[in-house]
This record gives sequence, C-alpha cells and structure tokens, in this order.
Amino acid sequence: MSASQAFSADGGITNIYADTAQIIKSTAGTAMTAMIILVFLFISYEFYIIWANVQAKKVYHNSILYTTFILTPQHGIMHKPMNQEHMKEARTSGRYSTIWQNTGKCVFCDLKEKYILHEENGIVLTINLYPYIDGQLMAIPRRHIQSPKELTQKEWDTIRKFNYIAKKLIRHTHGHKGMWTLIREGGEKSQMTVSEHLHVQFIPFDAPDLCNWNYRVLNNTPLENISLYRKEKEELQSLLRKFEKKYNS
Ligand SMILES: [Zn+2]
Repeated sequence: MSASQAFSADGGITNIYADTAQIIKSTAGTAMTAMIILVFLFISYEFYIIWANVQAKKVYHNSILYTTFILTPQHGIMHKPMNQEHMKEARTSGRYSTIWQNTGKCVFCDLKEKYILHEENGIVLTINLYPYIDGQLMAIPRRHIQSPKELTQKEWDTIRKFNYIAKKLIRHTHGHKGMWTLIREGGEKSQMTVSEHLHVQFIPFDAPDLCNWNYRVLNNTPLENISLYRKEKEELQSLLRKFEKKYNS
C-alpha cells in the first residue's frame, strides 16, 4: 500500500496503523539484529583477549571477562595463579592495587621457600615479589608481629646484620651504591597494604624519582618543632620507663 491510498474511502485509518506497526516491527528487528551482532563481537573479542593472554603470558587490561574471572582470585572460578611475567609487571601496570586487596591472608606468614635467600634467628632474608626496583630485598620476622618494639634483641641484631649484607649484595649484584632501609609497621594507618606483619625493605636507590614523596606545606619552623616535642618531657620520660619495663625486662 502506498501513502496516497492511506485516506481512501474504506479502511484508510486502519492502513496507516498497519504501516506504522510494520515500521516499528522492522525497526525492532534491526535493533535486535544489531544487538546480537554486538554481543557476538563482544564475546569474540573477550575470547581473543583470553587467547592472547595465554599465548603471550601477558596482562591485558582491556578485557572485562579476563580481569573479572581469571585474574581476580576471589572469584575462584577459572582463576590461575599469577605467573612470573604478571608479577614482574604488577607495579608498573597498576595491577598491584588489585592484588594486595585480594590476598585474604598474611602473606608474610606464608613465605615461599623458593624466594628465600637466607634465614637466621627467626629472621628471613628474601626478595620482594613486587619490588619497586630490581634487586630489592626484605628482612621479615617469622613471628607475626607488627612493630620493631616486639623484636627480641637477637632478632633486631639479625635485621641489623641483614641490612649490612643486603647493601653489599645489592651493590655487588646490581651495581647500586645507595640503599634505603624502610621499616614498615603500623597497619592500615601507615598504608601497609599487604599485611600488618612487620617487614624491613632494603631498596636499591638509583635515582631520586624512585620514591616520590609528596611533601606537605609546613606549619612549624625547626625551632617550633623541637619546642613542641620538648613540652612532652614528662611523657618522654614515662615512655622510656614503660618501654624498658615492657620490652626490655
Ligand atoms: Zn603474618
């Protein structure tokens, strides 16, 4: 039927409705076809990414299914352990932020023997699985403690010894003369991400941009700072006595 026949003597209005219905029907059909094609393309794309990941052993971030079901440990299904390449790229690719939120356990109570270099007096000298830089080492007490104050004298002396050894080894193996020793304690408030288990990082220092510090605008001059602490003289004396009693007796 043509448009000129729409208002002809009998049934004209009915024909207009029939035409409109036909147009809607064909539009819906086209939309449905487009939707099916899109879903098909999406699934194909996802499978291609999974295949590419398996082939190249690389991490791709542009796949929703892959990152959701394969790389996210909490899902369980289809989850495969991180391979060495994933670990190597975790910091620079940004994936580390997902990893530490999904550990679900204290990673330092569950150290892997294959990554341990040496152990003495309950202190482990190990590599960092997600280092800031090649060659980074760590000293970790076997005991799940949060703070250096809980270390025995023997453990503390061993950490001191490992600090010396780490510096020498880093220089010998990686050629860096500088090293930062970073004692991590304090849980979430100190932005401890993986665990509340005390650990000491031995970080090879190659250039100032390795660890960017976001310095704050200061409220106090050096003299104001020392005077604030000197006001706490009594508190200082009390803490000195408390420490001796609690941890050194
Ligand atoms: Zn622990």
